[in-house]
Amino acid sequence: MVACFLVVCAWGGCGFVLYWAKMSTTHLLDQPLLAMRPTFLVLLVFLTALLLSSASATANDWSEVTTPSHGSAEVFGSPAAGCIGGAVILPPEGPGYQVMRLLRHRNYGHPSLVHFVQTLAENLQAKHPGVMLVGDLGQPRGGPTASLHRSHQNGLDVDIWYWLYDRVPNDDEVEHLSAHSVLHADRRSVDPTHWTSAQVDLLRLIVDTEEVERLFVHPVIKKRLCGQEPDRSWLSKVRPWWGHDDHLHVRLRCPLGNDACVSQKPIPPGDGCGTELDEWLAMLAKPKQAEPYPKQPRPPVLPPECNAVLHAD
Ligand SMILES: [Zn+2]
Repeated sequence: MVACFLVVCAWGGCGFVLYWAKMSTTHLLDQPLLAMRPTFLVLLVFLTALLLSSASATANDWSEVTTPSHGSAEVFGSPAAGCIGGAVILPPEGPGYQVMRLLRHRNYGHPSLVHFVQTLAENLQAKHPGVMLVGDLGQPRGGPTASLHRSHQNGLDVDIWYWLYDRVPNDDEVEHLSAHSVLHADRRSVDPTHWTSAQVDLLRLIVDTEEVERLFVHPVIKKRLCGQEPDRSWLSKVRPWWGHDDHLHVRLRCPLGNDACVSQKPIPPGDGCGTELDEWLAMLAKPKQAEPYPKQPRPPVLPPECNAVLHAD
C-alpha cells in the first residue's frame, strides 16, 4: 500500500518537477508531458525505481528480520532514524512484568534497556501488587517499522502501560487487551480511579533511574503532577507529548562511549510546569483540536552503518 502510494508520488513529484524545469527552460508552457523526449522519460522511470527501492528497504526489511545481529551492542543514529546491532531480547514475561503484543516482535533493545525494564518491574512490584504491562521496545535490529512509527528505532525506547494488571495476562489478553486511558472522557483531567499512587510511583522509579533521559506522558498528566507534587524537582524529565494517556514512553540516554548514537537536545532547565506546559494545554483546549499523533511523513534517512546492521549475520 505504502509502496503504491510512493510510486504514485514518485511519478507525480518527479514528473511535475522535471516537467516544470523543462518548461521553465524552454518556455513551451503548452507542451504536454507525453511529448517529452524518450531520454527524459527514462530518467523519470529510473528515479521512480530508485525511490521505490529505498522506500521499501526502510519500510519492510527492518520489520521482516527476526533476529538481532551478532556482536556486542552498538546504537546507530537517533530514536527517530536509527538502528541497533547486537540487540538483546526482553523475555516475554518475568518477575513483575509481561510484554504485550508479542506477535509484533518488538521486544528487543539495547542490553541497558532490557535491564532497565526488568529492574523497574521488580522495584515496582516491591511497592505495589500487580503486573507491569510492557508495550513496544524495538525490532530485533531496530529501524523503522512497516507503519513508520516515529521512534523506537535505536533500541533505547520502551512503552509501558499505566495500568497495573492484577494477574499475569493470558495469551489472548496479551494480544488483544487494550490499554485504557487514565484521563476522564473529556480528556481535560486525570481520572483518579485509574491514576493512583501506583502510577506516580511508577513514574518516580523511572525518573530516578540515571540512564533515563526522558519520560513522555500526556500533557494533562504532567499538569496533574505539577499540581500535586510538593517537590517538583523530579518532574523535569517528565515531558508532555501527544497521546500517552494510556501508556508512557521512556527514552534512555545514549550508552557511554557509543559515539554513533545521536542524542536528543538536552531538556530545558526547570520543572517544565510553567510556560511550556501552558502552551500544551492551550493547544489541547482549542475547539475541535484533535490530538494528531504526529506521523512521520516519509521513511527516515538512516545512518549508513545501518545497512551493514540490517544485512549482518
Ligand atoms: Zn513509544
